[in-house]
Amino acid sequence: MYDAIVIGARCAGSPTAMLLARGGFSVLLVDRATFPSDTISTHILWPHGTEMLGRWRLLDQLTATGAPPICRWMTFDVGPFALRGTVPDVNDGMGGFCPRRTVLDTLLVNAAGESAAEIREGFTVDELLFADDTVVGIRGRSRGGRPVDEHARIVIGADGVKSCVARAVRAAEYDSRPVAACAYYSYFSGVEQDDIELYVRDGCAFGGAPTNDGLHLVMVNWPAGDFPAVRADVDGSVWRALETAPDFAARVRAGRREEKWYGTAGVPGYFRKPFGRGWALVGDASYNRDPITAQGISDAFIDAALLTDALAAGLSGRGDLEELLAGHELARNERVRPMYEFTSHLAMLEPPPPEMQALFVALRYNQDATNAFLSAITGAIPLADFMSDENVGRIMSAARLVEPPVSPSVTS
Ligand SMILES: Cc1cc2nc3c(=O)[nH]c(=O)nc-3n(C[C@H](O)[C@H](O)[C@H](O)COP(=O)(O)OP(=O)(O)OC[C@H]3O[C@@H](n4cnc5c(N)ncnc54)[C@H](O)[C@@H]3O)c2cc1C
Repeated sequence: MYDAIVIGARCAGSPTAMLLARGGFSVLLVDRATFPSDTISTHILWPHGTEMLGRWRLLDQLTATGAPPICRWMTFDVGPFALRGTVPDVNDGMGGFCPRRTVLDTLLVNAAGESAAEIREGFTVDELLFADDTVVGIRGRSRGGRPVDEHARIVIGADGVKSCVARAVRAAEYDSRPVAACAYYSYFSGVEQDDIELYVRDGCAFGGAPTNDGLHLVMVNWPAGDFPAVRADVDGSVWRALETAPDFAARVRAGRREEKWYGTAGVPGYFRKPFGRGWALVGDASYNRDPITAQGISDAFIDAALLTDALAAGLSGRGDLEELLAGHELARNERVRPMYEFTSHLAMLEPPPPEMQALFVALRYNQDATNAFLSAITGAIPLADFMSDENVGRIMSAARLVEPPVSPSVTS
């Protein structure tokens, strides 16, 4: 009998297992995947997600993989011009990373193992075990193996969008959003690029960032309805999008594509009730948003930290577990909702509304406000605070007092 069984060993599951094991709980962590292995996901890890790795004493290991830092001088290009800046307020202003999932997820699962969680890779969970209406364990099997039962005080689904735990316990889903955007991405060598670049255009958004092994991630998003046409001609669709930023397109063209195009028709947005009798959900199993704002990995880290705080207190009798988990759900929703709305809107890939365009113009010659904007859209500071009438009013007023420099420092 374990204190906890965690199903899924990537960005949500491994930190959850690691933190519980570090807290002295006995933990079994299982995944049908083996590591290192890839998954369909780009892998922008924003500065606030990177800060979590620092707190867990894993940042040196990530740096040692050779993944270059990003967000030291990032580009957010809105068409007529680009906003450039940094994210100063988290991770000591040291930025984030764009590590391959083969690298990041392996680092995380190893950290869970080093913290004394028991790990079974290549282990598929087929069903949950119930006693009346309470989850008491799992039934699963290693590759080619016979079914085995394992029991725990709590079973945690860190098993992604198609969570078998959420399905088995019929976790209530709310505030769902349909799939809005589809995406393709690949990896190029020989691209002149020091930091992450993001481009927003009518009907598409794209960008790139340096990653491990001297490669550069190149990714493009289109409205979900475009997926059949994009899939029929991925190369042509990608280059048509990239050519709307000629300088970026030229630098990518000067490089060489080293891997195939990876694609997805898109993922829906939803909140799921993340707990019940004997079970909890974390990461994408618990809450999902379109990938366009690249929040999933950082969210999974934060969700793992906050869930394990609640579980540690509940499992050790320092509070009522159900009350603690209810508080965790409320806090999660309050924390992520502004970004959820922003993400859902951005994923529609419609032209920005006039007030947003006016804000972009006002930011153009205001470096502090640009840094705050980049901090807000990456998730380093609360988006709602940045977008408050008071803050936006202050930025607009400041812009009216500023004459654009003769030779602009920020142009596309
Ligand atoms: C196209 C795309 C691009 C993205 N880009 C970014 C980005 O740039 N930055 C960012 O932060 N986020 C991004 N995301 C989101 C990010 O990938 C997810 O939020 C993140 O992977 C969530 O991690 P997780 O651990 O919750 O789930 P997952 O990474 O989905 O891991 C779930 C694990 O559970 C295991 N599992 C499932 N069922 C079982 C079972 N029955 N038995 C055993 N094991 C099981 C799976 O094998 C898997 O390893 C992107 C997503 C997509 C689709």
